[in-house]
Amino acid sequence: MMKLVFLGAPGAGKGTQAGGVAEALKIPHISTGDMFRAALGNETPVGLKAKAYMDKGELVPDSVTIEMVDERLKQADCENGYLLDGFPRTIAQAEALDQIMAPDCVVNLDVPEEILMGRLTGRRVCGSCKGTFAISRLSDPTTCPTCGGELIHRKDDQPETIKERLQVYHQDTEPLIGYYQNQNKLLNVPSVGDPQDVNNAILTALEGKA
Ligand code: ADP
Ligand code: ZN
Repeated sequence: MMKLVFLGAPGAGKGTQAGGVAEALKIPHISTGDMFRAALGNETPVGLKAKAYMDKGELVPDSVTIEMVDERLKQADCENGYLLDGFPRTIAQAEALDQIMAPDCVVNLDVPEEILMGRLTGRRVCGSCKGTFAISRLSDPTTCPTCGGELIHRKDDQPETIKERLQVYHQDTEPLIGYYQNQNKLLNVPSVGDPQDVNNAILTALEGKA
């Protein structure tokens, strides 16, 4: 049983790391970014509310986001815990989560600012399996190396939107580091270099915490 939050700037590698860590710990991987993109694709009421914010790189309002996560955490698979990726992103969201089902541990994926921009502009996402890849590591920048699906340059991965997302991160999300430090739940893990090494570092940091 482990209730886990992944914290980090856009481009810190939350999505890349969360899948493997959730699998290793046998807990569901819950990405609010993925949930919003799925809602958008299905044109659900939540998706329609979120679209304008996502396109601009702004946060979806707390009320919408918190209700969506609250519903998700009530599902049966969360009885063994969860790995939240992309939530909370504001102090209000963190306070709400403490009411719903407080996390045991918070992993902060730490990446120097100057590396983030390059990572985000070079990021491609698979339309089929949702995997993310750096163009610098791909021989064919349009085809998913895992499933053969088509790779997409996300609309919110364009330079202007990236700047906005980094600004939103510093203003609204970075204060969560202090919030969880005060609760003695924060584990800081550098997220640079080989993704597999970062994965091992996260699992090592979490050892004995469940
Ligand atoms: P990133 O790659 O920047 O971490 P995500 O894929 O997690 O982005 O999220 C994409 C977009 O979805 C965000 O820019 C934001 O508009 C919305 N979103 C995701 N999670 C949240 C959240 N916890 N609160 C508000 N908006 C969110
Ligand atoms: Zn794929």
